[in-house]
Amino acid sequence: MKYCQDCGAQLKGRADKKFCDDYCRCHYNNEINRNRDQDFKKINSILKKNAGILEKLIQQGIKTSTVHLLSGAGFNFNFFTHQLQEQNGEISIYCYNYGYLKINEEQLMIKQVTHSLSSK
Ligand SMILES: [Zn+2]
Repeated sequence: MKYCQDCGAQLKGRADKKFCDDYCRCHYNNEINRNRDQDFKKINSILKKNAGILEKLIQQGIKTSTVHLLSGAGFNFNFFTHQLQEQNGEISIYCYNYGYLKINEEQLMIKQVTHSLSSK
C-alpha cells in the first residue's frame, strides 16, 4: 500500500506514483522549498551576526581579539563563508568580507577584505 507524500491519502494506479495529483506534488515541493529557505535564512543570520561582530571591532580600530571574547559577543565559530590563504600560507576564515586568522589557540587577528571577490 502506498500513500501520497503530501496529504497521506492512499494512492491508486501506477506503482511509482508518489502524489495524488499535481496539486499535492506542488504543495509538497513548496513546503520543501519553504523549509530550505528558512534554513538558509537561519544560517545567513548567524553569518551576518559573525560578520557584524568583526565589523564592529574593525570600526573601533581593534585588530586582535580572542576566541573567548568573540564567543562572549555571540560569535559562532562553526559558521563561515569561505577561507583565504594569506601570503605566508596561513588560512584566514571569513564571514563575508570580515574574518580572522588564528595566531594561536586563543588569539585571533581580525581581517577585512574589500573587493577581493569581484571578478575584475
Ligand atoms: Zn495527496
